[in-house]
Formats: sequence, structure tokens, C-alpha cells
Amino acid sequence: MKWLTKKTPSSKEWVRWHTLDPCVKNAKALGYRSRSAFKLLELDDRWRFLKPSLRVVDLGCAPGGWCQVLQERAPSGKKGKIVGVDCLPMTLLPGVCFTQADFLDTSFVTVFSQDLLGQDVVLSDMASDTTGLKAIDHIRTLELAQGAFSFATHVLKKGGCFVAKTFQGKESGAFVHALKKSFHKVHQAKPSSSRPCSPEMYIGAFGFKGK
Ligand code: SAM
Repeated sequence: MKWLTKKTPSSKEWVRWHTLDPCVKNAKALGYRSRSAFKLLELDDRWRFLKPSLRVVDLGCAPGGWCQVLQERAPSGKKGKIVGVDCLPMTLLPGVCFTQADFLDTSFVTVFSQDLLGQDVVLSDMASDTTGLKAIDHIRTLELAQGAFSFATHVLKKGGCFVAKTFQGKESGAFVHALKKSFHKVHQAKPSSSRPCSPEMYIGAFGFKGK
């Protein structure tokens, strides 16, 4: 299959850049499955929302870097539970309950919301394949974050928190505004491990006001 072996200049460039990326090297050295692990570590260093025995749902968890950070910083213990969801398969991790499902499938919320009631934390690092067209990538990522927010408002317990990836764009302000209605505090951050050229941004919403 020609398209798999012959790289376009841009994909060649990406592979070179990816190989030289210090976060990729560090992730390998520390045994993390993805460079994304550093983003969650940085977000937690800044916002301090992870601790042992939490009930956490990690949406868009594959290949599992965030789940590894959760294992370290929010180990389940007797009361807690880490649930990971992704439409792709993920090699299992001890202490993480993984479900392969498409979050956008209408049955997802119906089936899982009831089982997952009472979460302390809902995380979403979900991202669809980027097109390179800023406006489209912004809207598609925002749709996933909005879906995750709506899910969070069903399953979070009062006082819980929601952290999600978004792409900056013209609808970002409206999203933050909507979050502020449901949470006492809303912050935004771009971790240094997030590539500077990426419009990626993380939103942390704390102190869920309840349904
Ligand atoms: N946080 C992960 C880690 O640390 O390894 C990396 C997440 S990766 C940036 C984004 C993930 O979102 C992909 O694994 C992708 O399959 C998942 N995703 C995108 N759309 C999804 C959907 N509709 N339902 C479930 N997962 C989805």
C-alpha cells in the first residue's frame, strides 16, 4: 500500500519533529504511553485536583498516558475508581476499568450515565483527527468538549470537577461562559508540554454547583 510507505514531505517532517520532541523522549524514558501524560501532570501541579480514592472518568483515554498519571496521583483505594473510555482499543492497566465505546454514540450517555453517577472528576482529552482547517478543528473539538461537559453535569457529584481539552477559537468564550453557570471556578491553561503551534487549550472547572 503506497500511501502507508511513501511519506509526504509534511508527514516526514512530522515524524522527524515527533522523534526529536523532548516530551516524547521523556515519556518513553519514564514509561508513559503518551506525551499527553505530561499535560495532566502539569494541569494537576497547577490546579491540584487529583488525590487518592477519587471516582474519575477519563474520556478519550487511549493509549493511556492520563490513566497512568491517575494510577499515580489518584489511586483507587477502597472507595475510588478510575474508568477510561475510548473509541479505540487500549492495552489494559491495573486499577483502570476500560470501556471501548464511541462517546458520540447516542446510546453512550443513556447506558453509562446511570452507572457512573457520583463522580468526583470528569476528564476529557478527546480529540478528533485534525483537518488542518482551524475553524473546523475548533468546532469538532469543541463539540467533544461540550458533550463531555453535558455528560459531566449528569454524573458529577456536587463540588466535583471537570477538565477538558479544547481548541481555541471564536466559540471558546461562549463555552467558558456556559461552564461558569455550572461551576464556581473556571480556569484555562496551556501546559508547556502542549505544542506551541497547537491551538490546544485546557479548561478546568471546579466546584460543580449540582444539577
Ligand atoms: N489522554 C490520552 C493519553 O494520555 O494517552 C490521549 C488522548 S488522544 C489525544 C485523544 C483520544 O480521543 C484518542 O484516543 C481518540 O480515539 C479519542 N476520541 C476521539 N473521539 C472520540 C469519541 N467520539 N469517543 C471516544 N473517544 C474518542
